[in-house]
Amino acid sequence: MKAEIISIGTELLLGQIVNTNAAYLSRKLAELGIDLYYQTTIGDNSQRLVQTLRKSLIRSDIILLTGGLGPTVDDITMEAVANLIGKPLILNRAILKDIKRYFLSRGFKPPHGNDRQARVPEGAKCLRNKVGTAPGLIIEHLGKVIICLPGPPREMAPLFEDGVVKYIRKRWGRGAVIRTRTIKTVGLPESRVNTIVKDLLELTPPTTVGIYAKLREVHLVIMAKANTEKAASSAIAKVEKKIVLRLGKHIFGYDDETLEDIVGWKLIDKKLTIAVAESCTGGLISSRLTDASGSSKYFIMGAVPYANEVKIKHVGVSADTLKRYGAVSRQVALEMARGIRSIMGVDIAIAVTGIAGPTGGTPRKPVGLVYIALVAEKRRIVREFRFDGSRKDIKWQTSQAALDIIRLNV
Ligand code: ATP
Ligand code: MG
Repeated sequence: MKAEIISIGTELLLGQIVNTNAAYLSRKLAELGIDLYYQTTIGDNSQRLVQTLRKSLIRSDIILLTGGLGPTVDDITMEAVANLIGKPLILNRAILKDIKRYFLSRGFKPPHGNDRQARVPEGAKCLRNKVGTAPGLIIEHLGKVIICLPGPPREMAPLFEDGVVKYIRKRWGRGAVIRTRTIKTVGLPESRVNTIVKDLLELTPPTTVGIYAKLREVHLVIMAKANTEKAASSAIAKVEKKIVLRLGKHIFGYDDETLEDIVGWKLIDKKLTIAVAESCTGGLISSRLTDASGSSKYFIMGAVPYANEVKIKHVGVSADTLKRYGAVSRQVALEMARGIRSIMGVDIAIAVTGIAGPTGGTPRKPVGLVYIALVAEKRRIVREFRFDGSRKDIKWQTSQAALDIIRLNV
């Protein structure tokens, strides 16, 4: 079964809103095991919508439309669909009642234009909208199905979950299942991961592997399609095993897990406490460490000793070291970590210092130069990094590297 999505709205074409509906529906269709072959975005233009729908009816079985179901003149979906299938718009009394009730229950008189939304193409099955006024529509036409959903995501999603999923299941049965598994690595560049798993990236359906690069993090997504959940899971497990063998300790987590989650779990597991002294990241590492629920078990303190005097006075960096090596140096990173560890009496201390740019770089100490130090009872590590990108990118990469150093050393 082939599906496609048509998103309607001039503001989508102008880039004023992001098409989250298409992303949401794509995910949901994949979960239902339905192949999605096209996504189209068009403005509030009836003629172009009809033209697109003509093509869609030839190449797809299910056509999902979102947007343009409102009461205003720029909401053209209903007319265009009625026009295409050659059916008149007929007043649906139940929907009209819903709309009136919707306004009255909120203390408003139902406005005039809203009657428009209760006029639906003859023969359409209506999905009643509990959080807004536009109903969803399911229209069967020449063996194909056109499904119209309102634009606002909070109205569209429940109509899809309740009405559309039920309809699809009833009409086509459970169908195939698609399962995905995301394997997350940190520290390796995309090209390196690509080389390591090259043969797997060339796999073809029903089991495929995709690669997605983020800042200092590369994700591999295994996707398997099968008739049963069990078959899909076992197909994924086979590929996953190969990836785990090849990428080993570079893998930090799976699916929704974040680097800070993993670091938190490790610290809890080993019953360790941590403090952070961060200069160039301005608190980002502390912020990320405290994003994990339960972080009060291990996170003791985060300091941002930005000015040199503060580094001296409050985290125990010696004036002499600062003068000799400069604030962005191996030595200062190490003294910051050592200082914060003894002041706070924690098991592990991590410190970062660097040049986040875009100004402030010199030939010897360019923008993106960062030192990260970790000090624990029997461990003392300082590493130098050269990151690139914007100030924000450099800060993020620094936090990634710092969290990874913690992950690998507790
Ligand atoms: P309304 O009754 O609110 O007019 P509608 O079905 O006519 O609903 P639109 O007018 O097309 O929908 O869009 C209404 C709002 O819904 C937009 O301003 C936007 O905030 C949101 N919206 C519409 N389409 C999308 C989309 N594809 N992705 C995310 N949000 C969307
Ligand atoms: Mg509208």
